[in-house]
Amino acid sequence: MTYSGNGIWVVVEAAEGLKTDTAQEMMAPAVALGSQLNQPVGVLALGGADLDSAAIANTFGALGAAQVYTLSDAKLAQYQVQTYTAAVSQAIQEKNPAIVLFAATAVGQDYAPRVAIRCGGGLISTAHRLTSTGGQLEGEKGCIAESMLLSLKTSANGPQFATIRPKAFEKPEATGSAASVEAITLGGDVSAVTEGTTLTNVQADDSQQIKLEDATIVVSGGRGLQSADQFKVVEDLAAALGSNAAVGASRAVVDAGWRPHKEQVGQTGKTVSPKVYLALGISGAIQHIVGMRTSDTIIAINRDADAPIFKLADFGIVGDVFEVVPALIEQIQSAKQPV
Ligand code: FAD
Repeated sequence: MTYSGNGIWVVVEAAEGLKTDTAQEMMAPAVALGSQLNQPVGVLALGGADLDSAAIANTFGALGAAQVYTLSDAKLAQYQVQTYTAAVSQAIQEKNPAIVLFAATAVGQDYAPRVAIRCGGGLISTAHRLTSTGGQLEGEKGCIAESMLLSLKTSANGPQFATIRPKAFEKPEATGSAASVEAITLGGDVSAVTEGTTLTNVQADDSQQIKLEDATIVVSGGRGLQSADQFKVVEDLAAALGSNAAVGASRAVVDAGWRPHKEQVGQTGKTVSPKVYLALGISGAIQHIVGMRTSDTIIAINRDADAPIFKLADFGIVGDVFEVVPALIEQIQSAKQPV
């Protein structure tokens, strides 16, 4: 027996959804499922009283959404697990979509499973491929440091859920027109939710640099850089490559306190999939590789010709980073000079 809901939904924390690619990338599997099942694509946007529904309708309408549902309330201004779980569950129960997608971010991974349980549905987490077979959602995800692929199928007779791995899909081309907007009023029982925890502080990342996960070029440095001061050569190369380049780091570097954890790439850091990934003085441990191996082109610079990173790299330079990188920067800068 298959569930009789209608519509493919993408759940968006509104402020983030307009700022970052992650929410917008989910429109790719949503649109594909919509055309496979002949169902409309909708966006459920959550935010505070100042939620910009017109901006959401324009952005997500262009990417293929027909309808934007908004949940706008002061209680939703900041992510709080119990309130967000209750609010999204209420909207799903009211509107009855067949499939609901969340981003596999720290926030999405936190509340999507709770919503799925509350709505009596099955969930596929961190999916990088999704389809629907026989009325059930089917997906694929990596596990055990991406060394295995799992194929999963939901079996619950309720709405079906997935969290979507960032960078697994490219956001669709923005060719559509603004979606229509319908506001959903938060039910009294949701407004009455009391959180078990109190949010005491939100520290925004106010750096002007491009986010690691959004950069088209990532220049990462490892222990081979030898000290926090000498790591500067990694920053210099990223700066020479332009505003689409971000700095990353191995865990050895983060553990040594040379760089902040937000720059760590790998199993216990971020997963990146840029057009170009440069690994400078990084050995290529499996825990690092799982965070960058889907990059389009990988370039490694290491003085050890037998470093495991060279097995993965498309281009390798065997040499000392402190000789090779300044020479590279010089070449890049002279290539930028007008002739
Ligand atoms: P090293 O392995 O020490 O390699 C340094 C490299 O620099 C060497 O290959 C050396 O030849 C080269 N080198 C040295 N000097 C120079 C020079 N002057 N010029 C050129 N090359 C030079 N690691 C991550 O990165 N991300 C993770 O998320 C992560 N999660 C982990 C989770 C768990 C549970 C565990 C157990 C480990 C995890 N690690 C992670 C750690 C991982 O196993 C490695 O220890 C780490 O990636 C090594 O970092 P590295 O390559 O910078 O250092």
